[in-house]
Formats: sequence, C-alpha cells, structure tokens
Amino acid sequence: MIFATLKEVLDRARAGKYAVGAFNINDMEIAKAIGGAAKEERSPVILAVSPSAIKYAGIEYIYEIARVTADNSGVPTVLHLDHGTSFDDCIQCIRYGWSSVMFDGSKLPFEENVKQTADIVRIAHAAGVSVEAELGKLAGVEGHVSVEEKDAIFTNPGEAKLFVDRTGVDALAVAIGTSHGAYKFKGEANLDFPRLENIEKLVNMPIVLHGASGVPKDVLDKAAKYGAKLPGAAGVPNDAIKTAISLGVAKINIDTDIRLAMTAAIRQVLAEKPEEFDPRKIFGPAEDAMKAVAKGKMQLFGSSGRA
Ligand SMILES: [Zn+2]
Repeated sequence: MIFATLKEVLDRARAGKYAVGAFNINDMEIAKAIGGAAKEERSPVILAVSPSAIKYAGIEYIYEIARVTADNSGVPTVLHLDHGTSFDDCIQCIRYGWSSVMFDGSKLPFEENVKQTADIVRIAHAAGVSVEAELGKLAGVEGHVSVEEKDAIFTNPGEAKLFVDRTGVDALAVAIGTSHGAYKFKGEANLDFPRLENIEKLVNMPIVLHGASGVPKDVLDKAAKYGAKLPGAAGVPNDAIKTAISLGVAKINIDTDIRLAMTAAIRQVLAEKPEEFDPRKIFGPAEDAMKAVAKGKMQLFGSSGRA
C-alpha cells in the first residue's frame, strides 16, 4: 500500500506519547505545504479529505495529489476520509485507495451509530483500511458549564467503552469541549480533562481531537491587518493540547489554522502588490505560510523526528 494505515501510525504515536496532525487538504498548494512540512520535520502525517473536498477537487485529482505528496515526502502518510457521513462516502474511498476512513455517526442515536459504524468496520478491515468513529456532540462551551450540560453533549465514558467493544473501530473521536471552526469561542476552549482521562482508560485506544484549532497569533494579526473579518479569536491553547496528548490524544485535526494562514498570505500579496496577477506569485507565499504553520503543529504535537 502507498499509504500507511491510521492504525499503524496512531498505535505508534500512542506508544510514543505524541500526536499526529490530520491536516485537511483541498488542493495542490495545501497538500504540497503539508507534505513539505512533514518531510522537513521528518514527521508522520495524515492527509484528511472531507466529502466536500472530494466534491470540490474531484476524487481523481485529490487522490493523485495525495499519492504524489506521500511519495515526495517519504514519511508515513495516511490518506484519511474526514467526516464521512454515509456508507457510500466510506465505500467510495475504500475502493479508491484511501487507507483510513472516518464514519461520523455522532448525530445518530447510539444504537444506530453502533450498527452503521460496525458495518463499515467489517468492510474496511477486510480491505486493510482503518476506521475512526465519533461519539458525543462537538459543541463549543464557553465559561462555566454545569455537569448536567456536559453530560448531555460530551462523550460519555461508559458509552465510549461499549461503543468501541461493539464496533471494533481503530480510533475514537471524542467531545470534551472543543469545537469545529474558528469562531465558536470568544475566548479559549475549556477542555474536560478528567473526562478524557476516564475515556482513555476505558477504551484503551488512540483518541482523536477534532476542533482543536489554535491559530498562531502572527497569522491572526496578519489576517486582520489585511482586511479579514474575524468574529473572534479562537482556539485551544498550546498547553491544553500538550495535556490532551499526555492523556492519550494521538490524532489532532487541523483545518482552520491552515485556511487562515493561506488566506492571510493571499490577502497580503493582493494588498501590497495590486499590480500582481501571476497566480504563482500569489499562491507561492500562501504555500510557505501554510507550511510554517504545519511545521509548528508537528513540533507542538511531538511528531517531529518520528518518521
Ligand atoms: Zn472534525
């Protein structure tokens, strides 16, 4: 197989007490930036492709871009479906050569999530493909939240144990207070570490954190300086990321940080050089900016030097 499986990469990360970044790719520039960062950092890497990225790029393009990225970087590279929401999403990617799929049944009732996830695991594993699933609702939480509110939206440790036993998944995405997108938080995310610790002890497998953006300040400042409208600073502080990794998080999804780095760099070129219309001179600096952010994440996650 050209791509490493999620299971082999995450099992190694868990044993080594570090996490591997799953970076969403949508086009060549993003993929080159992530692959270049992984190569320079000698870090394993997960290329995450969402169903909407497949729709945007076309499955043939995005697959080939990922394949060349893995070839050129020379590090263990997982090609992962991010947030597949249907059986068909997952099967399409398994047939096409993905080495990992996420089935996100977190909006389904528990029993239905178990049933659909287990069906996909059976097929994926027969094809040598790993499966990530999700339990709990990824809602952002600001300030003080009552125990009852947390229990209603966050991942329940007992349910997580039942879920992994009955589905056979390779990694579990949990809800412990992170949130998708840049602007759900006015301040910093408040993570439920005791819950994470509990879940990890019970499920005994790599844990996945979605919605764990922490956009570097220089990127936020640049975006704002060149006209981006940012409704709020975002994210999970670096210290919280480190604590989460020490408690068993082995995969961290990164999308917002890269989007902001890319568009801030494009805004800068267009603002400072209004005469510029060569796309290569506009996308080139964007690629460099994305690569710098990706390298910073690999260092933060401890995956640098692990390939
Ligand atoms: Zn996600």
